[in-house]
Amino acid sequence: MRRPVFIANWKMNHGPTEARAYMAAFTARWTPHEDRTVIFCPPAISIGAVMHALGSRRDIAVGVQNVWTEDAGAFTGETSARMAADAGARYALVGHSERRHVFGETDAETALKCAAAVRNGLTPIVCVGELLDQREAGTTNEIVLNQLRAGLAEVADESVAAAIIAYEPVWAIGTGKTATPADAAAVHAHLRSALRERIGDRAAAVPIVYGGSVNAGNAESLLAARDVDGLLVGGACLDPANWARICGTRAAKG
Ligand code: PEP
Repeated sequence: MRRPVFIANWKMNHGPTEARAYMAAFTARWTPHEDRTVIFCPPAISIGAVMHALGSRRDIAVGVQNVWTEDAGAFTGETSARMAADAGARYALVGHSERRHVFGETDAETALKCAAAVRNGLTPIVCVGELLDQREAGTTNEIVLNQLRAGLAEVADESVAAAIIAYEPVWAIGTGKTATPADAAAVHAHLRSALRERIGDRAAAVPIVYGGSVNAGNAESLLAARDVDGLLVGGACLDPANWARICGTRAAKG
């Protein structure tokens, strides 16, 4: 029922020149697949290059890694959702762990960014995840459910039903440690229950993707886990051949 979603987060890598070369290599390897969605989140400055490289291909979508809460104005250095949409983005990551923990983004800011994305026609990819000490203290579910509810607080139910949720344990991002498929499935099930409280049966259609040191070796077992509807990948997406391999992961529930 839910088409698997594969999201590449380039983080602060691949400026326009590298982005062009990357996309040429990726599109040469990746033929359109109707059974899955592939989304690239390049740095904002490379969105134009990626869009240009995609040409008429509509099977691959582009997202922005972060947006500001307002649509325009005196916010030097920021990118608005309106501008990202104008550049060709259809998705926006909001509340990524690096925004929260490197740049100090609060739940309230994440909620406003989510609203800005929706207001400008972008599908928000709302990221949640616990720190290692929170997992060890047994508070994972409480943390991620609070982040989820807060992050979606400023948008209407119909936008919640159209969103993508990403569970990314902070201790797994860029560390080489991954949640086990069972651990990911357990958190995803809690997230889906919280979505059900908010939007009822429509929660069944919301993709909940996993992120945190996914690679070509562990992608299949994570994707096979219940309620894991896709993968959000940082480090392992930076090489086009490797990313094409991950995007081709067999998607069958065990
Ligand atoms: C990410 O950036 O969202 C991510 C999951 O990174 P990595 O795959 O490198 O852990």
